[in-house]
This record gives sequence, structure tokens and C-alpha cells, in this order.
Amino acid sequence: MSAEEQTTFRPKNELITIEEALNTIQRYLPPRSVFKVPLLQAVDMVLAEPLVAPEPSPRYTNSAMDGYAVRFADVETAGADEPVQLTVIGESRAGVPFQGTVKPGTAVEISTGAMLPEGADTVVPVEDVRISGDTIVVVKPVRQHQHVRFRGEEFSEGTELLPAGVQVKPTHIALLASLGVVEVPVYRPLRVAILVTGSELVPPEKTPEAHQIRESNGVMLHAAVERSGGIPVYRTIVADDPGATLEALQQAMEHTDVILFSGGVSMGPHDHVKHATVQAGIEPIFWRVKQKPGKPLFFAVKGHQLVFGLPGNPVSAFMTYTYYVHPVLQQAVGLPFAWKTRTVRLVAPLENPLKRAHFVRLRTWEENGEWVGEPLQKQGSHMLTTVAHANGFVKLDVGEGYRPGDTVQVFLFP
Ligand code: AMP
Ligand code: MG
Repeated sequence: MSAEEQTTFRPKNELITIEEALNTIQRYLPPRSVFKVPLLQAVDMVLAEPLVAPEPSPRYTNSAMDGYAVRFADVETAGADEPVQLTVIGESRAGVPFQGTVKPGTAVEISTGAMLPEGADTVVPVEDVRISGDTIVVVKPVRQHQHVRFRGEEFSEGTELLPAGVQVKPTHIALLASLGVVEVPVYRPLRVAILVTGSELVPPEKTPEAHQIRESNGVMLHAAVERSGGIPVYRTIVADDPGATLEALQQAMEHTDVILFSGGVSMGPHDHVKHATVQAGIEPIFWRVKQKPGKPLFFAVKGHQLVFGLPGNPVSAFMTYTYYVHPVLQQAVGLPFAWKTRTVRLVAPLENPLKRAHFVRLRTWEENGEWVGEPLQKQGSHMLTTVAHANGFVKLDVGEGYRPGDTVQVFLFP
């Protein structure tokens, strides 16, 4: 085999189905890995290890009320008819504990959260006493241990508080903080490079010339990758040139797990992504799927690195991202390989007259407590409004169709 033959992309003629494409991608999922992040970065990430309490809670026995720490034996008989008088010998404040012991006939003034002094086992709220100088008179009946929060009563050291697999919420951040867990083990997000091909493209902030357009796929994919739990580490525009494409690919391969190409995967003479991939030593796995939009989708693999060649048409890029890339990034961070879906009642018919699967964009809204939806009129794969005005899509197989009133499963956009 000549050197040129070895680096030439040879497509299989067969297009594969969306099921085959999805199953194939699932066979190449990179293994999840675990790393530790500072506490506040853990929000929305998934715990890779259970949280086991390194200490009990409460950490020390303390008061639940502002009042007086007393010995129950002293105040057992207290009530309106039989007031009990105690001498106040000091104070236990939150953060400044009382150093002595509560002896018979005495009490210590105490604040909420302050350490219960030795000798005391009960707290009388300030509203249940009459104060005169250094003495208090308890005028209401008292229950033993009332208004005391005991060390370990919420949980003891060694208790499993959160299982692995939990998605961290602000309340979990508080729990972790309260236990001093400031480095949190979570699943590592995949690092994604976004290579936007097209010699007609300028960045959105530049004024395009007559023959140019502002590129929108790169920023769209960047934002979507973040929503899926990945980290867009790298994004660049690449001219439709074989050398430039290969160079950008080789650079992107250095520190990333997933490379997303936008454009350059069709049949045209200026579509260089497939060849560049082979030249970079990455194995092409499939090219072209029986679907609309998104037919030119290309998938290649090297070790645990995945390359997706998404079609350049903005709608095709977004639909193929949503269906094939989103679940990959999401499962890496410990969430299911899945999409958010919603059952929706149709207010208009849905048909697939094509010989391949059709991903039809839908607008959905809530009406009288039920989700309803209708397909957008303009479904052109170059029309950004058909994704911007939609919030999901329905996957219609060949020959599949629905009437108004039928319910369908809508895949919601990330
Ligand atoms: P391609 O897949 O490279 O043949 O591109 C298909 C169509 O999508 C062409 O009309 C391109 O101009 C357009 N296109 C490609 N990339 C982008 C992009 N990043 N932003 C907006 N449109 C694009
Ligand atoms: Mg192009």
C-alpha cells in the first residue's frame, strides 16, 4: 500500500441507521474518571464517592434556645404554683463556652448554639423565667432535656450521608462544608475542542464581507457543551484547507477528550475533515447516517479520544450534537447516557414522507396543565430559527406519522 493510500479516507457506501450510529458511539464511551474539585466548583457535578460523616452532628451538645442551662433535678417541680429559684453563675455564649459546672441550685445563661455547660441537661427558655438581679425564677413546668441538641443526635461519625451518584445541590455544598469536606470527589468532565471549519466564516464580532458569514456553530456548541457537563477548552476557526485542518486537529488532540468538527464532512472537494482524521492516525468508525437533518455525521476514534464531524448547517450541527454528543458528555460526569424528554400532545399533524429518519423540530408549551406542541413550519437545515424557536424535536422513523391529538415523545434541547 502506498503512503497516499494509507492516509486516504475510504468510505463504506452504506449509510447506517440512527440506532446503529448511537449503539456504535456507546461502544466507544471513554471510561469515567474521578478527580477532586474545590467545594464550590462541585455544584451540579456528580459525587463519585459516598459522603461518609467524618464526625458527628451536632459536634457538641448545645442549646436550641436563648435561656438558661439548668439541672432538671432542680426544676422538676417548677410551675406557676411552685416557682423554683436558681442563682445565675455565668454565661455560655455561642463561641464562648462557660468554663465551670452547673451545681445544684444554679443556672448558666445560654444562647442558641452555645455549648451546654457541664452539669446541665436541660434548657429553660428565657420567656419561661422571671429575672431579678443574679437570680431567676422558673415559673413554668419543665421537661427533662428540653431545648437541648445532643452531640451526634442528627448523625454519628461514619454515617453515610450521601451516596455516590448524587448531583450536588447548594444544600449538599452546605453539608460538605459543615463537615470540612472542601475537596469533593466528582466525575471529571470531558474536555472538548471545537474546530469550526469554513473559509466563509468570520467570528461573530467581525463584520463579514459580501462573501462571508458570521460563524454561529462554534459558539452554539461551546454553550451546549457546558450545558451537557463538558468543558469547552478550545475553539477555533479553520480554513477549508487540508494542511490547516490536519494541523488544527493535531493541536486539538493534545489536551482534549473529544473533538467536535463543525462542517467539512460532506462530499464536496473542500471537505477535508475525514482525510485529516485518517492522516492524524484516528480510526474512522462511521460516516453518514440515514437521517434528516444530519446525514453527513462522521465519527472517529483514537484510544479513548472521540472525534465527531458534525455537519456545518447550523440545524444539522445542533441536532446531531443533541442526539449523539450530549449524552456522551453527560454520562462522563456521572449522569445517564440520555436526554431530557417530555410527552407532548400534538396540535398539528406530524409526518415523515422521507426514506430516512426525520428529526422534526417542535415548539412546545403548557396549556391547561398539559404540554402541547406543534412542528415549526420552516424546517430547513440552514435556518437557525427552526432550532432557536423550538425547544425540542421528535424522532420520526420512516413511515411514522401522527394526527392532532396524538401524544409524542419530545427530546428536549439541552
Ligand atoms: P459544510 O457542512 O461545511 O458544507 O457547511 C454547510 C453549510 O453550513 C454552509 O452553508 C456553511 O456556510 C454553513 N456553515 C458551516 N459552518 C458554519 C458555522 N460555523 N456557522 C454558521 N454556518 C455555518
Ligand atoms: Mg464548509
